[in-house]
Amino acid sequence: MFASTLDTTIEFLKGVGPKRAELLQKELGIFTYNQLLNHFPFRYIDRTRFYKINELSSDLPYVQILGRITNKEQIGEKHKKRIVARLTDETGSIELVWFQSLKWVDEHVMKGKVYIVFGKPAVFNGSFSISHPELETYPRPSTMTGNLRLQPVYNSTEKLKKFFLDSKGIQKLQTLLIEQHLSEIRETIPPYILEKYQMISRREAVLNIHFPKDVVALKKAENRLKFEELFFIQLQMLHNKQLRELKFKGHLFPIVGEHVNTFYNEVLPFELTGAQKRVIKEIRVDTQRGIQMNRLVQGDVGSGKTVVALMSMLLASDNGYQACMMAPTEILARQHYESISSLLKGRLAKVSILTGSTTKKQRTVLHAELEAGEIDILVGTHALIEDKVVFKNLGLVVIDEQHRFGVEQRAKLWRKNTVPPHILVMTATPIPRTLAMTLYGDLDVSVIDELPAGRKPIETKHLFEGQRLRMFGFMKQEIAKGRQVYVVYPLIKESEKLDLLHLEAGIEQMGYQFPRPDYQISIVHGKMSNADKQYEMQQFIDGKSQIMVATTVIEVGVNVPNASVMIIENAERFGLSQLHQLRGRVGRGAEQSFCILMSGNKLSADGRLRLETMVKTNNGFEISEIDLKLRGPGDISGTQQSGVLDLKIADLATDQRILQEARNTVIDIISADPHLELPENSVLKTYLSKRRSGIAFDKIS
Ligand code: ADP
Ligand code: MG
Repeated sequence: MFASTLDTTIEFLKGVGPKRAELLQKELGIFTYNQLLNHFPFRYIDRTRFYKINELSSDLPYVQILGRITNKEQIGEKHKKRIVARLTDETGSIELVWFQSLKWVDEHVMKGKVYIVFGKPAVFNGSFSISHPELETYPRPSTMTGNLRLQPVYNSTEKLKKFFLDSKGIQKLQTLLIEQHLSEIRETIPPYILEKYQMISRREAVLNIHFPKDVVALKKAENRLKFEELFFIQLQMLHNKQLRELKFKGHLFPIVGEHVNTFYNEVLPFELTGAQKRVIKEIRVDTQRGIQMNRLVQGDVGSGKTVVALMSMLLASDNGYQACMMAPTEILARQHYESISSLLKGRLAKVSILTGSTTKKQRTVLHAELEAGEIDILVGTHALIEDKVVFKNLGLVVIDEQHRFGVEQRAKLWRKNTVPPHILVMTATPIPRTLAMTLYGDLDVSVIDELPAGRKPIETKHLFEGQRLRMFGFMKQEIAKGRQVYVVYPLIKESEKLDLLHLEAGIEQMGYQFPRPDYQISIVHGKMSNADKQYEMQQFIDGKSQIMVATTVIEVGVNVPNASVMIIENAERFGLSQLHQLRGRVGRGAEQSFCILMSGNKLSADGRLRLETMVKTNNGFEISEIDLKLRGPGDISGTQQSGVLDLKIADLATDQRILQEARNTVIDIISADPHLELPENSVLKTYLSKRRSGIAFDKIS
């Protein structure tokens, strides 16, 4: 749009200059006035609350005290020189101590005067003192940004602090910007929407996010800015979705024919759950619209996603199309292939598998069969993506664990047919609704929130190191019943060496407790060759070993129904969703399954909460909500690479309502004005065209 003064390089702001500008760019990514204005405080210090001196305790954070300086003296020699003052209110007195800037303190802190003192109290020689407190004269002077009740605290870095750009320094710059440029801040959201949700203007919001008039004003500012942030993410996603749907026709699957019917009526060994039926219906609707389907199916481990995928693929073949299913690892691909083959019992569709270890000879045959349309369903790894793999008429692509594939890899599958195939994405890691709406906001989302009937919930116990013998006893008892046991150790990059030592010690101890020839132990970890891993894994799958000691390589989708005990060592070190994934490796057969979480005696508050959560619930969605609160969205498994989650102000753990409002608003706007041609939406159109030309969100002023 039009150039704005707010696009001015930060260097030219008074008090910045070239050196600090460079640091602001490097350390905080701030290049312009506008970006500095969008560097919001991450918290506020409540300066409306005054503590009385007799209320102080050493576990208080920063406190504010109103009192009179009743004494001031300089004591000590040379480097021990310091100024000690006594601050007194009607309840008592404390010491204030300065070791530096003594000249300034001497000139500005006056005996007999009243001050607002701000700092962290500490106990010294049995009485309270505050070193290097901040002092303000009382009463405070009143200016637009000066009379602070809630003092902003900004993120800064060590390097910035060296150049006086600590939180206070940044606050000064913000003051300048706001005093001089507030009127140039432009509205980004159409007024009719502001009105509908009774939101304040951008200008008022920016003023109050930095210098809140009071708590109510701060809430309003936060609300407005959070809405704006989420709104524009949704706008972009849903607008893209719409463009895609306008551009790509979808293959039509109107017929429910022999494959689906025979499978459903004669082959399927169980009744589908309500949730499975619902999702299949959704897919039926999607594939009859003449628009390409892009649907995400979320469901907990064991919720039965494979059958849903299989029935969709049979639907494709009933309509004369081929389907393929891509998994992130060879083991997973093989398992899908096997479970699909066993569900089909060799009837109906022809199913093949293609992975990295498919031989050249096999490939030649397979390629020819694919092109001739003789294969209905192809299961595989990224080997499917290769250009040499040509389908006769690919109608549906199922992607398992989609976060493990890059955008480019997915796009290649799209190009396997002149009209892109329908896309069904499945994820075994349930993620909270807010996260799904943000990460996968351009997909339609289905949720399988019901487990097949008759499943016995996995029993989870937390044991401490001292109870290890109990654990071994339990293992023996279950193995005697013919079951198999996983024992998982953490292997984390930062502490890899130590972890490997633990693993080795663990293996040794296992060998001692479970000696050959009565017991066989398989060992799998990331340092082994693929062939060795495969071999060890196969031993366990075939029931030739009773115990599988492993690092987290088994996390992804391994399916051994006879394994009914999962032991997780150092469980406190795993994230919640990872624990849940690991636990999902058991509980796959008819037997009662168990998960034992082993931990040391010392647990952090978060660690304790994670283990308690695991013991309390088996519900992946519930677990993911807690995980989101504990770790924030960027650390939830599978979300790491997503830039969408670098939110400035909104919080997906707490802002569900705002997100829903933002999304609904966008849906309303787009359905009423698909191309954003109405004058009242022109500001949105401008925004999107800037985004398309590659301007980052926070650079748009
Ligand atoms: P996931 O969602 O983790 O991929 P799977 O599709 O592997 O789950 O299903 C787990 C197990 O549950 C499989 O053995 C599958 O055959 C079985 N299953 C799936 N749906 C049902 C159902 N409706 N009733 C009974 N068993 C089912
Ligand atoms: Mg699965």
